[in-house]
Amino acid sequence: DFDTRLAEAWVRAAAAAVDKEQERLTELDSAIGDGDHGSNMQRGFTAVMAALDGLDPAGPGAVLTRTGTTLISKVGGAAGPLYGKAFRALGAALPGPADPAGFGDALAAGLQAVRDLGKAEPGDKTIVDAYTPALAAFRAAVAAGADLPRAAAAAADAAERGARDTVPLQARKGRASYLGPRSVGHQDPGATSTALLFRALADVTR
Ligand code: ADP
Ligand code: MG
Ligand code: MG
Repeated sequence: DFDTRLAEAWVRAAAAAVDKEQERLTELDSAIGDGDHGSNMQRGFTAVMAALDGLDPAGPGAVLTRTGTTLISKVGGAAGPLYGKAFRALGAALPGPADPAGFGDALAAGLQAVRDLGKAEPGDKTIVDAYTPALAAFRAAVAAGADLPRAAAAAADAAERGARDTVPLQARKGRASYLGPRSVGHQDPGATSTALLFRALADVTR
């Protein structure tokens, strides 16, 4: 089950992954944005680590809600509110431990939150392009009888493919859309950080 311990482990692993990949995220954002995605994510997750210190969470949702609230308050860029809303929606859907199907429903609520706020469609070269295939792969794995570790691994693989598949796309949302056709040929930074978050989930559930 996805419980409080796993929620904390996931957020810590996500913070570590952001720390390790900060430069790469910034490089990607320098090509088609304003070069701050790595530092935005780094600042956000550093604040999240501090916010979780001394928190005595009532369930996994409390960890994820606090994560989301902190990202919204500490990250100025587009990704802060988008990830913040996603984590808050995940948190609201997980008042207690969840089985793989229940965790899939929570992931779906997170994607819906991103789409409600950002209005991006699949193919617009955003977070949605990694999150959508990750959710689909997670649910397909669960429907085929996979446990949480195997479903999370399938989701991480799909998110990484989804991020790579943003390379030929033209951005239609966010700063990269200002470049028009010049956004083609670069991997989207937000889709890349989404893949990091799903890989962190797969790593801690293993
Ligand atoms: P900013 O663009 O404000 O500098 P970041 O650099 O932190 O913010 O984040 C940029 C990423 O945010 C993009 O690579 C893209 O994936 C994501 N993004 C931007 N706008 C949207 C949106 N409307 N919906 C989903 N994701 C978006
Ligand atoms: Mg940026
Ligand atoms: Mg910015």
